[in-house]
Amino acid sequence: MPMPTYPELQLFIAGEWRRADGQPVLNPADESVLATVPHATRADLDAALTAAQDGLRVWRQTSPAKRADIILKAARLARERIEEMAIAMTLEQGKPIAQSRLEILRGCDIIEWDAAEGRRVYGRVIPSEPGMRHTVLRQPIGVVAAFSPWNFPMSSPARKVAGALSAGCAIILKASEETPAGAVQLVRAFQDAGVPPGVLNLVFGTPSEISEYLIPQPAVRLVTFTGSIPVGKRLAALAGQHMKPAIMELGGHAPVIVCDDVDPAASAATSVIGKTRNAGQVCVSPTRFYVQEAIYEKFTDAFAAKAREVKVGDGLDPANQMGPLANYRRIETMEAMVADATAKGARLLAGGSRIGNRGYFYPLTVLADVPDDARAMREEPFGPLALINAVGSLDEAIEKANALPYGLAAYAFTRSARNVDRLAEGIEAGNLSINHFVASIAETPFGGVKESGYGREGGTEGLECYTVAKNVSHLVM
Ligand code: NAD
Repeated sequence: MPMPTYPELQLFIAGEWRRADGQPVLNPADESVLATVPHATRADLDAALTAAQDGLRVWRQTSPAKRADIILKAARLARERIEEMAIAMTLEQGKPIAQSRLEILRGCDIIEWDAAEGRRVYGRVIPSEPGMRHTVLRQPIGVVAAFSPWNFPMSSPARKVAGALSAGCAIILKASEETPAGAVQLVRAFQDAGVPPGVLNLVFGTPSEISEYLIPQPAVRLVTFTGSIPVGKRLAALAGQHMKPAIMELGGHAPVIVCDDVDPAASAATSVIGKTRNAGQVCVSPTRFYVQEAIYEKFTDAFAAKAREVKVGDGLDPANQMGPLANYRRIETMEAMVADATAKGARLLAGGSRIGNRGYFYPLTVLADVPDDARAMREEPFGPLALINAVGSLDEAIEKANALPYGLAAYAFTRSARNVDRLAEGIEAGNLSINHFVASIAETPFGGVKESGYGREGGTEGLECYTVAKNVSHLVM
C-alpha cells in the first residue's frame, strides 16, 4: 500500500482550481487535522453559476457519444487512481480500506452505466392525424445544484455528477466539508478526462448559506440532495417556493424481516456483515430486525456472537472490519440511544460503549426486545446499532416494518415464494431486497417513499430526473 497521503483541497470553478480559507478536516481515527477545506465566497458562487451556464451551452451541444467518451475516461482514470483515492477516503471518513476501494469501484460502475445510458435518452413520436406530428424530446434540464453527504465521499457525488453530465446538464456540486477529498479526486478525474470548463463545478462552505443562495437562482433548474430528513424538508420547501424540481434522497430505518423458514445462524451472519458496512452509517443500513418467534432465540444468539467478533480499529489496517464513526456526533447519538433503550427495558447483547477516548470508535451493538417507544426504534440511528425483536407472523412483521414514517430500503429472509409475494405487495419502501443486503446497483432505480424522499437515482428512472420532456407538435404546411 502507498504511503497514506491526503490531497490538497480546493474549489473547482470554470475549469480552474481555487484556494481559499476554510475549516479543518479531521481524521476520525485519531482526531488529527488532515487538511483545510476551502469555503466558497459569494463571488465564488456567482462565478460557479456563470460558469455552469456557459458550460451547459457547450455540453448540451456536444454529441451524446462524445459526452460518453469523456465521462467513461473519467471513470477509467478513477479506476487507475483507486489506491490513492481509497487511502484519502479512509483517512477522512474512517471506513476500512477494502470498503473504500469497493465504494470507488461502485462509483465507477455508476459513472460507466450512466455514460452509456446517456446515449439512449430517447424521446417518442406519438401517432396523430395525417399531417400532424407530435414529437416528445427529452432535453437536459439545465444547471443542477447538488448536495452530497459525508458517508459516501466518492460514490454519492459520482451518482449526481454522472446523472447530470450523462443527460447533458451542467452541475454545481457542494460536497461534504467533513469528507471532501472524495469529491475533489472525482472532479480531478473528470477534469483530466477533458470535461469542458464550467460543466462541473465543486464548492464547499457553510451548507445552509450555499443552499439558500444557490437554490433560488433562476439558472438552477434542479436540486438534488442526499442527507437527513430535516435538512431535506428544508431544501425541498425552498425548492418548492421557487418551483424547482428536486431529488430528495433522505434517511431510512430499514426493517429486516426474518421468516422462520430460513437458517437462523446463516441469516444472522449475513446480517452482521450488512450491519457493519460503513459502521452502519448508511441510509439503507439494516436496523430493525423482526424475527419470527420460532427462530428468534437462535437468530439473536448467533447475531450477538458474530457481532462480538467484529474487529474495530483504524480503517487503514486491513485486519479491521469496522473503522471509527465519521464524527463525534455519531458517538453521542449511539450513547444516547443505547442508554434510552436499556432504560426502557431493552437487553444489551453486544457492544454498548465507546472504545477508548481518542478517535470515534464504537463497537457493533446489539439490543434485543427493544420497546417500540425507544428512541432508536423511531429515529434513524445512523451507526452500528442493530435492534432485534420477535414477531408472531409475517403480517405483524409487515405492519411493524411499515409503522415508521420512513420508506427507503427494506430486507427479508425467506425461501417461500408466497412470502416474497406478500412482502413485495405489502412493504412500503423504494427498495426491497430478499435474502441479501444490496439495496441498489447502477442499473436499478434507488430512492424512497414517505419521508425518505422522492425522485430516483440510478437506472433509466434516475437519468430521466435530469431531463425535461418537451412535446413539439408540427402541422405540415
Ligand atoms: P445533518 O442533518 O446536520 O446534515 C445532513 C447532511 O446535510 C450533511 O451532509 C450536511 O452537510 C448537509 N446539510 C446540513 N444542512 C444543510 C443545508 N442547510 N443545506 C445543504 N446541506 C445541508 O446531520 P449529520 O449529523 O451531518 O448527519 C446525520 C444524519 O444525516 C443521519 O441521522 C442521517 O439521517 C442523515 N444522513 C443521511 C444520508 C443519506 O445517505 N441519506 C447521508 C448522510 C447523513
